[in-house]
Amino acid sequence: MKDTHDGVRDIHDGLKAYEGRVAATAGVGKDLVNEPMIRHWCEAMGDTNPAYAGPEAVAPPTMLQAWTMGGLSGHTGRSEAYDELLALLDGAGYTSVVATDCEQEYLRPLRPGDAITFDAVIELVSERKTTKLGTGHFVTTRMDVRADGELAGTHRFRILKYAPAAAKPKGSGEPAAKRPRPVVNRDNAGFWEGVAAHRLLVQRCGDCATLRFPWLPGCNTCGSREWDTVEASGAGTVFSYVVMHHPPFPAFAPPYAVGLIELAEGVRIVSNVIGVPYDKVRIGMPVRLEFLRVDEELELPVFRAQDGGEG
Ligand code: ZN
Repeated sequence: MKDTHDGVRDIHDGLKAYEGRVAATAGVGKDLVNEPMIRHWCEAMGDTNPAYAGPEAVAPPTMLQAWTMGGLSGHTGRSEAYDELLALLDGAGYTSVVATDCEQEYLRPLRPGDAITFDAVIELVSERKTTKLGTGHFVTTRMDVRADGELAGTHRFRILKYAPAAAKPKGSGEPAAKRPRPVVNRDNAGFWEGVAAHRLLVQRCGDCATLRFPWLPGCNTCGSREWDTVEASGAGTVFSYVVMHHPPFPAFAPPYAVGLIELAEGVRIVSNVIGVPYDKVRIGMPVRLEFLRVDEELELPVFRAQDGGEG
């Protein structure tokens, strides 16, 4: 071990020793793969793919982790090695944790009646990395999920154990962080061209006319890749919302409300609700589209509350 410039010990060699060790062993799914859970998932996701219903139904592949989850009563299978690793990181000052991403691979479909078992290994402990949240180590675990003993898929899950970056003193002269840039690619470029022209464009399937948002290369209803667009009228209501308190992100000052806006056309969009304090946003509140000039490069569709939220 050696002391590094910011006083946090570099313990990477010790951490590397945990790679390949068991993170959880001999887990057993609490339920067989079953139709009610598949139906609830599809309803929650709005996924009407016919492959997930009927006598030949398979489970949506993205449900892979759902079959391994312990629910409120939890699982007891976490290994000593994993607990030790987290304790080592805590002890080195990396006391905060954030889940960063997951990656799944599907090897065979899961069907109602399949009995799920799983185990997990600590696959990778990264070198010390500095992120906007702070400095720490990424820990990747790989869970192998088996159906009736046969490998059905893998679920890689990555967390960052980190020491939070010290807050920058206010008025330190640094420019305020900019809002994140949208990732514009060939599948969504038309949407951003619409925004530039102050038009909120929704895709419409060229075969079955189903509207979809966000933009996707194909239709979730019929699979068609033909599409055109319709311009949203701009009327909408708050379908749901969350108030963000933590963690703070650069360019966003918590608390703030993030709204899921249902457009009059029926599709939903995640956006800011403006013209109303964050704690006055309400489900069902009527809102109207505006375009907000965020900075010299970025303009975003946002939604202004129409009834003022009495505050
Ligand atoms: Zn369609």
